Amino acid sequence: MRVTALAGGVGAARFLWGLKHYLGPEELSVIVNTGDDFEWMGLHVSPDLDTITYTLAGIANPETGWGLKGDTFACLQRLVRLGGDDWFRVGDLDLTTHLYRTCQLRSGAGLASVTRSLALALGARAMILPMTECVVPTRVHTAEGTLEFQDYFVRRKAAPQVTGFTFQDIESASPGPGVLEAVETAAAILICPSNPFVSIEPILAVPGIRTGLRQFPGPKLAVSPIIGGRAVKGPAAKMMRELGHEVSALGVARIYQGLIDIFVLDREDEALRGAVESLGLKVFAADTFMDSPETRKRLARQVLEMIR
Ligand code: GDP
Repeated sequence: MRVTALAGGVGAARFLWGLKHYLGPEELSVIVNTGDDFEWMGLHVSPDLDTITYTLAGIANPETGWGLKGDTFACLQRLVRLGGDDWFRVGDLDLTTHLYRTCQLRSGAGLASVTRSLALALGARAMILPMTECVVPTRVHTAEGTLEFQDYFVRRKAAPQVTGFTFQDIESASPGPGVLEAVETAAAILICPSNPFVSIEPILAVPGIRTGLRQFPGPKLAVSPIIGGRAVKGPAAKMMRELGHEVSALGVARIYQGLIDIFVLDREDEALRGAVESLGLKVFAADTFMDSPETRKRLARQVLEMIR
């Protein structure tokens, strides 16, 4: 069964790691957010593409969810000694990914083909697709002014109060190679447990992708990133509150209403079932907190069984 997933970083990667145990490499396509991409020391860094690639290859740092297992930080330490910043943590081995990607892009390769080469070389057995090859950086509008995404997210630790997000030049962007085909040829579309505003919305905002999803005739499912009114990690709940959404799985379901037909919420949020159903969605309750290999695999298996 061919499945196409929409993904941000760590939350999505955990779920996809579970899915890869039940799907062959040709059966899993992942459309990944590139709105977080930015330039670091002149290098093109794609945080979400790397998190998905490293996790599916089994080489991600299990503690952080991003970066590489056992990586060292000698380059970064030397950089600091030279007067550089270390708020964005790049490990020595991780650096090779950014060096390789940047060289390839400069010599004319597209981001999709570079992503494919990295996935093959590192052993990530899935079709990992950048949402676009265009540069569409996420801008975070806050009470303190407009910030670049990594400046807000990493350097400022998501502290400023957000008022909205825009994705620069998104109107003229086009879906990356293979993206619309992955939607059209899928048996099901899965929206991973990711940040709805800065991971999933940028993907949907690429012209053609939202329409492709709307027209998709098969099952479309989203897994809630909010459990018991809290984000498992990251600022999703804080953003929901600041933007005036109800901070709950129901609030997430409202954001995805009209786009999906099945909503997976945590058993802890079973009481919200009726309210989510009244949005016209089928509800599936499961243990969605993926804190171990077993819980990741179990959630993936249950979701696949349900859509089958
Ligand atoms: P990241 O910040 O780069 O990891 O971006 P993501 O788009 O992946 O967003 C992380 C989101 O995933 C947050 O809203 C988390 O609440 C959610 N998340 C992380 N781990 C889990 C988990 O084990 N279960 C569920 N349901 N959500 C998760």
